[in-house]
Amino acid sequence: MEQTLSIIKPDGVGRGIAGEVISRFEKNGIRIAAVKMLHMTKAQAKGFYDVHRERPFFESLTDFMCSGPIIAMVLEGENVIEKNRTLMGATNFKEAAEGTIRKDFATDIEKNVVHGSDSPETATTEIAYFFNKFEITDAVS
Ligand code: UDP
Ligand code: MG
Repeated sequence: MEQTLSIIKPDGVGRGIAGEVISRFEKNGIRIAAVKMLHMTKAQAKGFYDVHRERPFFESLTDFMCSGPIIAMVLEGENVIEKNRTLMGATNFKEAAEGTIRKDFATDIEKNVVHGSDSPETATTEIAYFFNKFEITDAVS
């Protein structure tokens, strides 16, 4: 079973669409293995998006990510990294496919409601950024 990190960003939490996002994961057979709400500091946001530190949108993105509470989750399922990215849609909501979270809810290339890890390597480091092993549940058989 694969795991990935999902974040409902401050725009999604603030607009009250967290339930809708989580519902889409559950309806698509994805298990929520861990969840927490937190309000990141600027330093935490910069650490999380360190890979983008040289990009022109870095300051604005990290300001946005610490502008309000987020919901971080560990999603679990077969091929869940790719499955989550498909459910999320393209980074730019204008290019996102019909029926995706970003197509339906994003308002801006930055304020695009959700984050999802993009590879097994980033999933491992991003999950560890928010959760320790005792906070991630096993599926009940
Ligand atoms: N972003 C932005 N402007 C851009 C590209 C990205 O503000 O031109 C923001 C957006 O919130 C995006 C995040 O930076 O989700 C991380 O960018 P990435 O390319 O990793 O997109 P993602 O993996 O989230 O689809
Ligand atoms: Mg990314």
